[in-house]
This record gives sequence, C-alpha cells and structure tokens, in this order.
Amino acid sequence: MLKGKKAIITGGTRGIGRAVALKFMREGADVLVTYAGNDEAAEITRKEAEAISAETGAKIFVLKGDVSSESFAGEAAAFGRENLGTIDILVNNAGITRDGLLLRMKADDFDGVVKTNLSGAFYMMKAVAPVMTKNRSGRVINLSSVAGVRGNAGQVNYAASKAGIIGMTLSASKELGARGITVNAVAPGFIETDMTAALTDEQKERATAQISLGRPGRPAEVAALIAFLASDEAAYITGQVIGIDGGMVI
Ligand code: NAD
Repeated sequence: MLKGKKAIITGGTRGIGRAVALKFMREGADVLVTYAGNDEAAEITRKEAEAISAETGAKIFVLKGDVSSESFAGEAAAFGRENLGTIDILVNNAGITRDGLLLRMKADDFDGVVKTNLSGAFYMMKAVAPVMTKNRSGRVINLSSVAGVRGNAGQVNYAASKAGIIGMTLSASKELGARGITVNAVAPGFIETDMTAALTDEQKERATAQISLGRPGRPAEVAALIAFLASDEAAYITGQVIGIDGGMVI
C-alpha cells in the first residue's frame, strides 16, 4: 500500500503513466502528474482520478510542461514539494519514439528522443534527489524498455535512450543507496498504449509473435510492478532492471 505517500509521475496522463497514477491513488498516494501536450487526455485522467479521490481521499495535481527542459524539471519538483508537502516517489515515465532505420534517421530524431527519454529523466532525478536525500528515504522508478536491453531494429535512438536509462539507474542507485533511496528500472515489452497504437498491424503481429504469453501487456500490469517497487515492501530492492514483457524475445 502507498497510503500517505507523495509521488511525481512524468507523462502521467496517458498509457502506462496514467495507469500508474490511478493505481497509486487507489493505494492512497497523492500524485502530481505531468504531461507534454494532450490536454484532452489530461482532462480524462483528472476526471477518473477525481472518482478515485472521492473513495480514497488521495489527491491529484496536473502540470503541463516539457521534461526535456531542465527548468521545467525544477518547476515540477518545486510544485510537487509545495502542493504534495514532500516527494517520496518519482516515476520517470515520459517518453517518445521517432522510429526509423539508422541509415535514414535524422540527427534531430536521434537527439530529440534521447533528450526527452534520457535527459528528461536525469533532470527530474536531479531536481527531486535533494528532497529525498533530506528525507533519507525515497523511491525512483525509471521506465526503460526491452529495446534498451536487447536492441530493436528501427529504434537506434529509442534503444540508446532506454539503455542509457539503465546505466543511469545503476549509477544513481550506487550514489543514493546510503541515503535510503532506491533506484530501479522497469523494462516493459509490448504494452497496449497510444505509443504502440501507432504501429502497423503487421508490426503488432510480429511483436506479438515474439511474446511467450501470446498477447501484448496491459498498462495496469506494468503499474502493478511499479506500485510494488514504490512500496515499503520493496525497501531492499535497488539497482535492478526488472523485465515485464510476457517472455518477449527480440
Ligand atoms: P504514451 O505515448 O501513451 O504516453 C507517453 C506520455 O509521456 C504522455 O503522457 C506524454 O504526454 C508524455 N510525454 C512525452 N513527451 C514528453 C515530454 N517531452 N515532456 C513531458 N511529457 C512527455 O506512452 P506509453 O506507451 O504509456 O509509454 C510510457 C513509458 O513506457 C515511455 O517511457 C515508454 O518509452 C515506455 N515503454 C512503453 C512500452 C510500450 O509498449 N507501450 C514498452 C516499453 C517501454
């Protein structure tokens, strides 16, 4: 359970991030969710969250901004501290894809993906770590991907960003462990969200054929793992990369 915990979830108004935010609230945590640009998705999430709030009393705050800007990360941490009271949990979930084969990939598409997925997570960790360090406790969960562990054709940029997340997670876990802060990564496989809805039917079939369980994952299944890693029960787990991919082999 996450009763009384205070959490920031980047990209928390859609897909996996939304499932995490709602799960956290069902478990009693107050959440700040950030999002980049889709106001409609933010409104839908806010309404769903308010229904949970009526049951559990957990609060939601929503903040629009671009995690690839270091100043926004600072703003989000300050907003979180002011409105939540403190920050116990950070879920670095915001992420984008700009797929293409290496030979055709534009430098902007490489840099843009790395800047959002990797630098964004770095800026947020750096902005939130002083609060957790002072509390001598905290949970950071970073979204990697099966692509960051094993690579994926057409995703040189995305795989680089998600492999970078792993190196950053492992290093940060070593730096912050003595302060009671755990830092872990989760590496989902093919999960049904807006991000994967953009794939062609053929790409979806090919991905599903590589999954032992024979189906894509659901955002709620990833959220359950993240909620566990964020809980007190996971106090002795740090510096890990935990796959959640239905047994995917790519
Ligand atoms: P999604 O596209 O449904 O949602 C992504 C969220 O990130 C949105 O809320 C969006 O507003 C936010 N976002 C994007 N760019 C941002 C920016 N610059 N600043 C702030 N917010 C930004 O994606 P999803 O499928 O829910 O993926 C969530 C995370 O899980 C991502 O990091 C993704 O790489 C990772 N992941 C997803 C899958 C999958 O199969 N869906 C697999 C492995 C890893």
